[in-house]
Amino acid sequence: MNFIDTPTQELFCANVFSKAVMKDRLPKPVFKSLMATIESGAKLDPSVADIVASAMKDWAIEKGATHYAHVFYPLTGATAEKHDSFLTPNGDGGAVAEFSGSQLIQGEPDGSSFPTGGIRQTFEARGYTIWDITSPAYILENPNGTTLCIPTAFVSWTGEALDKKTPVLRSMQALNEQAQRILKLFGKTDGAMVSSTAGPEQEYFLIDRNFYFSRPDILTCGRTLFGAAPPKGQEFDDHYFGAIPDRVLAFMLEVERELFKLGVPVKTRHNEVAPGQYEIAPLFEFANVATDHQQLIMTMLKKVAEKYGMTCLMHEKPFAGVNGSGKHVNWSMGSASQGNLLDPGDTPHENAQFLLICAAVIRAVHKYQGLLRAVVASASNDHRLGANEAPPAIISIFLGDQLTDVFEQIKAGGASSSIPKGTLEVGVDVLPPLPKDAGDRNRTSPFAFTGNRFEFRAVGSNMSISGPLVAMNTIVAESLDYCASVLEIETGGDSEKLNAALQKLLVQIMKEHGSIIFNGDGYSEEWHKEAAERGLLNHKTTPDALPVLETKEVQELFERYGVLSERELESRLDTYLEQYCLSVKVESKMTIEMARTIIFPAAIRYQNQLASTCANLKFVGYEFDTHTLDKVTELVKALQDSISDLEAITSSVNSSNAHEAAVYYCNKVIPAMNDVRKYVDELEGYVADDLWPLPTYQEMLFIR
Ligand code: ADP
Ligand code: MG
Repeated sequence: MNFIDTPTQELFCANVFSKAVMKDRLPKPVFKSLMATIESGAKLDPSVADIVASAMKDWAIEKGATHYAHVFYPLTGATAEKHDSFLTPNGDGGAVAEFSGSQLIQGEPDGSSFPTGGIRQTFEARGYTIWDITSPAYILENPNGTTLCIPTAFVSWTGEALDKKTPVLRSMQALNEQAQRILKLFGKTDGAMVSSTAGPEQEYFLIDRNFYFSRPDILTCGRTLFGAAPPKGQEFDDHYFGAIPDRVLAFMLEVERELFKLGVPVKTRHNEVAPGQYEIAPLFEFANVATDHQQLIMTMLKKVAEKYGMTCLMHEKPFAGVNGSGKHVNWSMGSASQGNLLDPGDTPHENAQFLLICAAVIRAVHKYQGLLRAVVASASNDHRLGANEAPPAIISIFLGDQLTDVFEQIKAGGASSSIPKGTLEVGVDVLPPLPKDAGDRNRTSPFAFTGNRFEFRAVGSNMSISGPLVAMNTIVAESLDYCASVLEIETGGDSEKLNAALQKLLVQIMKEHGSIIFNGDGYSEEWHKEAAERGLLNHKTTPDALPVLETKEVQELFERYGVLSERELESRLDTYLEQYCLSVKVESKMTIEMARTIIFPAAIRYQNQLASTCANLKFVGYEFDTHTLDKVTELVKALQDSISDLEAITSSVNSSNAHEAAVYYCNKVIPAMNDVRKYVDELEGYVADDLWPLPTYQEMLFIR
C-alpha cells in the first residue's frame, strides 16, 4: 500500500482496532460498555473481555497476525513487548487459534531486568501487563507476518507502577476531577470528561548508515564523542525549511504511510535548523494516546530509516556545536462539550473561565518549576538545555503581549480590554490581508503560551513524553484544586459572588506567582541575572535537577492526587540517577577506547610520517620547518595524558550513593572526557585526511 495507489483516507487506521471496527464487530451492549470506559472514564466491566478478545483475534488473524504482544513502557523510556502465539495444540496433532479475555486483560512478562529503582527485586520478579483499553490495539507488519499489539500498563505484584503509562492515566484522572470542580463553578455540570491533550513535535537527525557503522560512539552512545566543527555549519540557515532531499522525502513518506495505518495522525514535516536535521509532528490527541503514538513515531522513524540506508539519531545532541534536537510538547485540556479550555477567544479579558485556568497554570509552573526541570533531566538533554539554541535550564512562562497585558490590568484592579488582533499588511496589493495573531512567538522560552495551548520546549528528543505530561497534569490539577477550594469557600455556592471572588484570587495569584512570566530573550545573559534576582531556580545539570523529586512538596503532590506513591516516586529518582551515571560511564569508557585504539594510532602514524620526512630532508641537506611535527607531537602527548587522567578518574567513582556518584560523573568525569575530546578534535585539524580513521562532521552532516 503506498500513497499513490491507496488514498490516505483508506490508509488511515487500516491497522487499528478502532472505534469503527469495534462498532462493526462487537455486540451493541459490549461496544457501549467499552465506549463508556474510553470516553467517560467509566470502570471497565471485565465480563466483556472474552467477547472483545475473540473479536480482536478474528480481526487480527484476517490481517495476517500469528502472535499477539502486550506492549509496555518501562522506565527506560523505551517501548517493550512480549510476543505470544495465538496457536495452541489441540491434542489431535492440530492446533487452534485462541485468545481469551484474560489473555487480553493481563499478561506476565518476566521483564525483571528493567530498572525499577528497587521496587522489584529479581527474586520477586512478578510484573504484570494490564490492557489499557483507552489506547487502541493495532497490527504491526513485518514481511513475514504481522503481530497484534495491545498497549498495556506494567505494574508489580504489589500493584506499583513500573512504567511510564500508568502515571499518565492516573494524572489524567486527577486533572479531570479538579477541572470538573472549576467547570461547576461556572455552571457547567454535564460531567463530560476533561482530558489533557498533547501534540509532540519530534526533531531528529538522519545520517547515512555507512557512517553510523564507522562511528562506534554513535553506535553505542547515540552521539559523537569526537568531531571538529566543519568549515560550514548551520550559519547560512540554508537547510532550515529548505527543500527536502529526495531520499529523505521518500523516507518521510514511508514513515507517514506506516504511521497513518496505525492511526497516528502525522501532520507536518520539514527540515530543521541544522544540516541533516528534520522534524515530524502529529496532530494533538488525548495525552495517553499521544504518549503511545509518540513511542510509535520514534520506533517507526528508526525502522524506516534503515530501509533507506540511513540511521535516525534521536539523541538530544548528536553533534557538538550543531543545533540539538528537542521534543516540544504542546499541552492543553478540553472536553467534548466545552472544547479547549485554554482557548482565550478574541477577548480574553471577558473570558473569566479561561483567565482562571490560565492563572492556575501560571501558579502551577511557578510553584513546581523544579519538578518541571527534573522531568526533562537526562545526561543527553544536559547538552542541550542552557546552550544557546534551546531553552535555558531556568523554567519561565512566555505569555505574549495580549495576555500579559490582560493580567497586568487584573493586577492593577480589573481588566477592561484586550489588545486587538489586527491584520497583517504585507504592502503588496495582490497578497490578501491576513488576521494577525495577538502576539508574536518567542522561541527562547521553555514554557510558552502559543494561542490556545502551552508548549513545553525543554523536553528532550529522546525522551518519552510521559514524565512531562504527568508533571503538567498533576501540578495543574493541584492548582485547579486550590482555586476551586478558594472559590467554593468565598462564594458559598452563590454564583453572584463568583466574579468578585475570582477577581481577588487572580490578583493574589499574579502577585505571588507572576514572577515566572518572562516574555524576553531566554538565551540572554541578562535573563540569567534577572531570573536569579526573581528567585527562580536554575538547575543546570541532571544531578542538580533530580533531587527535587525527593522533596516533601513533590512527594505530597503526587501522593495526594494518587499519581505516584512515595515508593513509586523514589523508584523513579533511583532509576533516573542510575541511568544518568550509566550513560556517562559508557561514554567515558567509549572515549577511552576510541581515543586509545582508533585516534592515537592514527595520530602516531602521521607523526611518524612527518618525522621520517623531516629526517630524510635533513639528511639531504634541506631545512624543514618542524612546526607541524612539533604540534602533532605535543598533541599526541597531551592526548595520551588526558586518556590516562580520564581512566583514573572514571575508575575511582564511589557508587555507594547514587546521587553522589551522579555529581561525581557530572563534575569530574565529564570535564575529563571533554579534555580528551579537545585534543582529538585539534588533531583532526592536523592529521592527514587519508589517515583520519573516523567519518567527519562534514561527511556525516552533508552527505544525503
Ligand atoms: P509549531 O512548530 O509552529 O509550534 P506545529 O504545527 O509543528 O507548530 O506543532 C504544533 C503542535 O501543537 C501540533 O502537534 C498540534 O496538533 C498541537 N496542538 C494544537 N492544539 C493543541 C491543543 N489544544 N492541545 C495540545 N496540542 C495542540
Ligand atoms: Mg512548536
